[in-house]
Amino acid sequence: MAFNRPDQLKKLEAPFDLCIIGGGASGAGVALDATLRGYRVLLIEKGDFATQTSSKSTKLVHGGVRYLEQAVKKLDWQQFKMVYKALHERNILLQNAPFLAHPLALLTPCYTWFDRMYYRMGMWVYDLIAGRTNLEPSRGLSQRQMRALCPSLEMHHVRGGVLYYDGQFNDARYALAILQAAEAAGACILNYATLNSFVHSPKSLKIKEVCWTDLLSGQTYQIPVKAVINATGPFTDHIRALANPKLKPRMKVSRGAHIVLSADFWPGSTALLIPKTDDGRVIFVIPWREYVLVGTTDDPDSLSESPEILSDEIDYLLDYFNRYATKKATKKDVNATFVGQRPLLQAALDSALSTDTKSLVRDHEVEIDGRSKLVSIMGGKWTTYRVMAADTLDELEREVLHKAASPCRTQDYTLVGGYENEKPRFLAEAAHLPADVQTHLWATYGSQAFALLSSDLTRIHPELPYVAGELDYLKVHEMATCWDDVLMRRWGIGLRNERLAEEIKANKKEAFAS
Ligand SMILES: Cc1cc2nc3c(=O)[nH]c(=O)nc-3n(C[C@H](O)[C@H](O)[C@H](O)COP(=O)(O)OP(=O)(O)OC[C@H]3O[C@@H](n4cnc5c(N)ncnc54)[C@H](O)[C@@H]3O)c2cc1C
Repeated sequence: MAFNRPDQLKKLEAPFDLCIIGGGASGAGVALDATLRGYRVLLIEKGDFATQTSSKSTKLVHGGVRYLEQAVKKLDWQQFKMVYKALHERNILLQNAPFLAHPLALLTPCYTWFDRMYYRMGMWVYDLIAGRTNLEPSRGLSQRQMRALCPSLEMHHVRGGVLYYDGQFNDARYALAILQAAEAAGACILNYATLNSFVHSPKSLKIKEVCWTDLLSGQTYQIPVKAVINATGPFTDHIRALANPKLKPRMKVSRGAHIVLSADFWPGSTALLIPKTDDGRVIFVIPWREYVLVGTTDDPDSLSESPEILSDEIDYLLDYFNRYATKKATKKDVNATFVGQRPLLQAALDSALSTDTKSLVRDHEVEIDGRSKLVSIMGGKWTTYRVMAADTLDELEREVLHKAASPCRTQDYTLVGGYENEKPRFLAEAAHLPADVQTHLWATYGSQAFALLSSDLTRIHPELPYVAGELDYLKVHEMATCWDDVLMRRWGIGLRNERLAEEIKANKKEAFAS
């Protein structure tokens, strides 16, 4: 069976053990882990895969230097553990799909000798916590070394800097690679399929069936399952309320805006960490393919399916970028913008119905509703999606299925496209193609890219490396159903350059019906 809707719909004839709601990082992680533990899995996603928060992150695979600072300042052991876990996951994420994730050098400029010592020590601790999984040791830099790495950095009053390493990844395609791996292992995975309601057992009120609609055909389904996992990120409370209207909300939404400039505003491959804005935030300036990503903000928001950037947010990000860059950008230099909504976990408001009710805001939590037995995975971050999934499955087996935890097999599980040893052979077979097309095909499809070599290799836009043959491939093997699926997530060009994305769409209207 291939990763397309007709093939996945055929799988609906078989019975399922688990239904996972949500096809972002959390749902994808749970689907793979559950399938590898031997469960028959159905995953439904209301929009496209990673359509919400999981394609709108800052694209860092990180332990969180900010969490580390808080851990040290407050001597908070929980925060230390969070950083430790994330730093170890960082490596696993990089290893399991190397074509989609790589190490990134980040520079923090320092304006006083005290700052220099403070950040040097902080990054040293970061390295220490990473231990054997450290990507590269951090180091102090002189002004001359800083200029060489970041030629556009405004050096006025700079006393030196600290260079450290985290990861950078393609978030939307990473979610797809996890889902493809789950599908290949046996799961049924569907986009544009929304959960409507649950059927409960009349006696125990436990969920026994899921009712959902295929949004492309309009057909509704009612499918019996042994358990349901709610992995809907910022939308978690909505599903919790469907399962048990007595449950109190647990999620808070915070918006994070990004702007994208062309790379000539920040040449080189080293990112900048602005460690403290006037209002105490952290902002990154990150080289991102032929562009530079500036973000992010962090403000309370109300839940939205299509959050849009505000004019003030663009001004705010430009203001900080211009304070640190010699080449100043204005609003008309902004190629694209995007906003994500963080699914933040707030204190348990009502302890009566959940198994775990500690009153602190934490990174992630698995909640099992005592009445409906709905399992909700809440909070977290992209970097730790895999441990979040493992925790979810362990809790599910213990508390709902009442069986001993089965082993988690995702740690060394190569995702679809992740066979890096195939790269030399691919480059040899693709040697006749222009360098940018070769790079694009490998960076997008990894070891799956061979399939494209026998397709129509004409460019679909003179400025871009995308080729015509990809469109059929994306429909048949990556479940793309419309231009947005391709431009915003499979290729991501819509998040980097809105003009080019519109031009592709206008030139190739016939590729998709809508
Ligand atoms: C601005 C910003 C920057 C970030 N940067 C980073 C970073 O650099 N590194 C990092 O590690 N983390 C980062 N994060 C955090 C990370 O992106 C999120 O924690 C993660 O993507 C959340 O994934 P999720 O699957 O829980 O939620 P989502 O990605 O939102 O997925 C939930 C899915 O559920 C679906 N859904 C909702 N209702 C239904 C329904 N009724 N039926 C079916 N499906 C439904 C939605 O359509 C959605 O696709 C960032 C977050 C934000 C907001």
